[in-house]
Amino acid sequence: PFDVLVVGGGPAGSSAAIYAARKGIRTGIVAERFGGQVLDTLSIENFISVPSTDGPKLAASLEEHVKTYNVDVMNLQAAKRLQKKDLFEVTLENDAVLKAKTVILSTGARWRNVNVPGEQEFKNKGVAYCPHCDGPLFEGKDVAVIGGGNSGIEAAIDLAGIVNHVTVLEFAAELKADRVLQDRAHSLPNVTIIPNAQTTEITGDSHVNGISYKDRETEEIHHVALQGVFVQIGLVPNTEWLDETVERNRMGEIVVDKHGSTNVPGLFAAGDCTDSAYNQIIISMGSGATASLGAFDYMIRN
Ligand code: FAD
Repeated sequence: PFDVLVVGGGPAGSSAAIYAARKGIRTGIVAERFGGQVLDTLSIENFISVPSTDGPKLAASLEEHVKTYNVDVMNLQAAKRLQKKDLFEVTLENDAVLKAKTVILSTGARWRNVNVPGEQEFKNKGVAYCPHCDGPLFEGKDVAVIGGGNSGIEAAIDLAGIVNHVTVLEFAAELKADRVLQDRAHSLPNVTIIPNAQTTEITGDSHVNGISYKDRETEEIHHVALQGVFVQIGLVPNTEWLDETVERNRMGEIVVDKHGSTNVPGLFAAGDCTDSAYNQIIISMGSGATASLGAFDYMIRN
């Protein structure tokens, strides 16, 4: 069996695997897609000490770093079941069963898509999901934020300080964001909030040039010319496959403590699949290291 089996090969999982392997213990990492969300990222400018890189480059370095250690890397394999018997048993889609003394879950998350024409086509060409990451790319430009929940309104306030103008499109008649956020957004001269607005299309040529929405009261279609669209309708953790094996919050995020431990002894979690406060590369790497040290601590005591 593995001493530490990491499930998920993004920044959190890579970091966890490296920290485990450096303890000289038997380490494996299984990933549906090694690199994770980083693979879908164009430019990365907030990975501290690396002023500028891109996703595929960083993903390749993650894999290269993991492979300098004695880590059993199982790429293109998804886990579908986790059970705790004497040991943990992780069953893969192909029905192979991996056994381990400790498991670190780092299966990440995915942004919910709006699923309108133009979204896929203009991803990284004006369609963005992370204001902390991509906001500065739209300096001085006009952008839209789709979604008027907390993340949408936070994004609008954040972007208002960088871009020329922000249009928020909210499907419902009222914003769902906290009152203080709404008040703050309403006080900003360069933020326009449009309720009852159903996004129908993101338009563009080689890059986004506008957004169309239907006014749900009048059924009229409007088009706003702009250069960027931030989709902020939710980040979903990849934890559905875990069912009831581990405690998750109402958003589906795995609940962890400051050692990265879950409610199940020997089971740890790190990165975007957990209830950690912010979802960033540098944060997931830190939590991967934490979970791995937590797992090592657990092993030497059991
Ligand atoms: P992920 O990167 O999501 O990795 C999860 C891993 O688990 C993947 O290998 C996946 O294939 C695997 N997996 C999932 N389910 C299973 C399963 N059942 N079995 C096996 N493996 C599974 N952050 C920044 O700091 N700076 C940026 O500039 C930036 N830009 C971004 C741009 C975009 C378009 C996106 C989508 C995200 C961006 N982020 C950025 C956020 C950052 O990518 C994430 O916070 C980070 O990747 C989270 O790391 P993670 O390891 O927790 O999860």
